[in-house]
Amino acid sequence: MCRLALLSWPLAALMSLVLIFPVVANASAPALDLDTGWEYRWGDSPFLADGTPVWLVEPATEGAWQAIDFPSNPPGRNGMRHAWFRITLPPGEWRDPVLYIYSIDLIAQVYLDDTKIYQYGSFNEHGEGAFVGWPWHMISLPEDFAGRQLTFRVYSNYTDIGLWGEVRLMDRPELFGMILKRSAADLMISAFCLLLALLALGFALVQQSRRSFIGIALFSCASGVMILAETQASQLLLSRPLVWDYLAAASYYALPVGIGVLLETWFSGRKRRWIRRLWHLHLGYLLLAIGLALGGAVNLSSTFPVYDALLAFSLPVLFALLVANLSQLSGEQRLVIAAYGLFGLLLLFDMAVAHGLLPWQRIPVSLGALGFSLVIVAISLRHYARTQRELIELNSRLEKQVTERTHELQQMVERFRTFSYQDTLTGLKNRRFFDEILAHEAAIARRGSALTLAMLDIDHFKQFNDQYGHEAGDAVLIATAQLIAEHFRETDVICRLGGEEFVVLMPSASEVEGKVAVERLLDSLRRQRFRHGDNALGRVTLSCGIASYPRHTDDPLELFRLADMALYHAKHFGRDRSETYSSAS
Ligand code: GH3
Ligand code: MG
Ligand code: MG
Repeated sequence: MCRLALLSWPLAALMSLVLIFPVVANASAPALDLDTGWEYRWGDSPFLADGTPVWLVEPATEGAWQAIDFPSNPPGRNGMRHAWFRITLPPGEWRDPVLYIYSIDLIAQVYLDDTKIYQYGSFNEHGEGAFVGWPWHMISLPEDFAGRQLTFRVYSNYTDIGLWGEVRLMDRPELFGMILKRSAADLMISAFCLLLALLALGFALVQQSRRSFIGIALFSCASGVMILAETQASQLLLSRPLVWDYLAAASYYALPVGIGVLLETWFSGRKRRWIRRLWHLHLGYLLLAIGLALGGAVNLSSTFPVYDALLAFSLPVLFALLVANLSQLSGEQRLVIAAYGLFGLLLLFDMAVAHGLLPWQRIPVSLGALGFSLVIVAISLRHYARTQRELIELNSRLEKQVTERTHELQQMVERFRTFSYQDTLTGLKNRRFFDEILAHEAAIARRGSALTLAMLDIDHFKQFNDQYGHEAGDAVLIATAQLIAEHFRETDVICRLGGEEFVVLMPSASEVEGKVAVERLLDSLRRQRFRHGDNALGRVTLSCGIASYPRHTDDPLELFRLADMALYHAKHFGRDRSETYSSAS
């Protein structure tokens, strides 16, 4: 398939010829169509010993020739495989005159008067020969052709016999110009199809939906080769008509295979099996027909009617299957089917023309292929754009999620941090927090403000626990913590150091201010009656040691140690009291 796509380069070269040629070709007499004034005669002429056909030199047989407008399929064939056609050439002002014919069924010898000037195919001793393709013909004529007789000896075992399509007298350069100009659009479409085939093949190698891409590649490749093989310019590219005919036939036969592979992926169950059967049938026929023709068992030309019958069956079945399931298909798939339907219709028309069911005319089959290819390209581009857009959306969604997660995580970290600074029983700050805040407050105090620290310890709490139980002890710890909190300012920091010990840090409070607050707390506690459930508990008292900066030390960090010493004194002097640090004691 790659090698076929490479054909697009010679095609491009040919196309540039199309542009250059009209400049080279000088104006000459216009072409003249020889579509009237012919004569025909069934059967084959005997030949003289020197190879000259008797019918060309013996006037006695003149009466056997009958008039016909155009030299194809004369009436009364009755299984005849030979027909002769002749015309008297009209005058014309051509510098390099040629007769252009498109085309001949199937092989022919051409005589000007009694001299053979052209032969297409080879004739055996019975005047028969094999099919060698359906190219266009360019028969060179001498300058003095006017008024002379041009005779065709034609052999055909095909349904048609004679000349086909166009038969015209014209100048050689004008003929080349005409061929190139006529083929230009098809060459371009063919190159486009082959390129698309190459792209689809590339996608088939990397994408998930491999089968549909293989179907598209096959279909595009078949369309491209078929269109190229059927252009008249292909003969200028490679002057081997039979090779082109085989390529044209094989690619023509491959079209339903490609479309089948593509459509199969859209369906499931019974419909899928039907579509698969159809394309298997066509693939089988492609291999069989081309194989038999190459092996010489059948004529390539005779494989067409069978294929056409097959196509006339499978195209409508496939189409009916699609139309019946139209509601299941996406808009894009419907578009593909519409394009495919148009292409199929053109193929059917072309077939009808080939079989003489419709008058001879050029059917723009390649436009159908172009339409199909354009639809595929448009859909592919849309898919690409959508994928890109989705990728961008996904990206921004991910980014947003990451931001949200990070935020949540930060909140969580924050929460964990408070947890680890908090005493779970009393809800006060813990020892860890106290260590950090003391360093912080000490630094502030050093810049010139007071800082007072009070250390509190519940008296004889061990006994209390022993008497009322641990749970009652906990309840008292909680209530005491609450009471302490109520007796200090918002800005004071109250922590549970552990066990039944608390510490209060009073920023910018002097020794006296601290002492007043602590005394008030002790007083409240003395009057507090604790309960645990229905049980009244005994009283609880606190001992407290106070130290203040800069009153007792020039290092605020020392306050903790000094307050602890003061607390020791409070315990020592009888508990339920507060003691301020004194360097003397
Ligand atoms: P002192 O007046 O000398 O401070 O005597 P004390 O019994 O309070 O001191 P000690 O250090 O000997 O005992 C402290 C007691 O505090 C021991 C323990 O039973 C009690 N305690 C410590 N933590 C908790 C707690 O979280 N819950 C309860 N219910 N009791 C605790
Ligand atoms: Mg203690
Ligand atoms: Mg104690």
